[in-house]
Amino acid sequence: MNIFDSHCHLDDPSFESDFKDVLHRAAAAEVYRMLVVGTDRNTSDRAVALAKGHSNLFASVGVHPHDARSCTEETLAHLMTLASDPKVVAWGETGLDFNRMHSSRKDQERWLIRQLEVAETLDLPLIFHERDSQGRLLEILKARTCRPAVIHCFSGTEAELARYLEMGFYIGVTGIVTVSQRGALLRQMVPSIPANRLLIETDAPYLTPTPQRNQFRRNEPAFVREVLLKVAEVREEDPEALAEQVWFNTCSLFRIDPSTI
Ligand SMILES: [Zn+2]
Ligand SMILES: [Zn+2]
Repeated sequence: MNIFDSHCHLDDPSFESDFKDVLHRAAAAEVYRMLVVGTDRNTSDRAVALAKGHSNLFASVGVHPHDARSCTEETLAHLMTLASDPKVVAWGETGLDFNRMHSSRKDQERWLIRQLEVAETLDLPLIFHERDSQGRLLEILKARTCRPAVIHCFSGTEAELARYLEMGFYIGVTGIVTVSQRGALLRQMVPSIPANRLLIETDAPYLTPTPQRNQFRRNEPAFVREVLLKVAEVREEDPEALAEQVWFNTCSLFRIDPSTI
């Protein structure tokens, strides 16, 4: 089967020493494509460099809500230049995170809105990060024409899921779905995500799934296979058919040719 890890941070320093092995293990697990997601100027630079060097890696550029406080118009201008590379297939991750508050609410909202404008100008799909925004992300998006997007690492309520789907968004499911306690609510909601709106992701090096989390601290794209298997189990679907559907969804959202040679 063909598995696509739609969200990982392979630019993370923790992958420096064994990067080639990480890619080999991904291929061995049939994870043939990965999207390396930028979170600020530096990580976006690195994501694009990695994508340019590897045919099976793609990149996005953007400023994470945690990094909103250091964002400037100059940062966005730099990212816009980076985005002209054909391996850049999305803008993000951007959004709102009122859980950790690494940046003020004011900064987060200001730079989210600017990034929505930039994505519109560049005609790129968006990757949204949302945590505990109490409906504020939806409120901001509803007030604007919304571009194709994924709510990555979906962790909302059933009502939020319904509203995201109404807006035409894709839903990104991480390894949280494999974790017994923490994933219980997500496992309940996964069957109600329409098959053509579902994406899977690792968010590596974070959120290592079960059973690997007992053994490895660092998550890596190969482990997205566990996410696929758990999602298939919960939805009572054939993993192979589900992998193909999710591959197609990911390629559709990011406008990547789904065919593999
Ligand atoms: Zn995120
Ligand atoms: Zn991320």
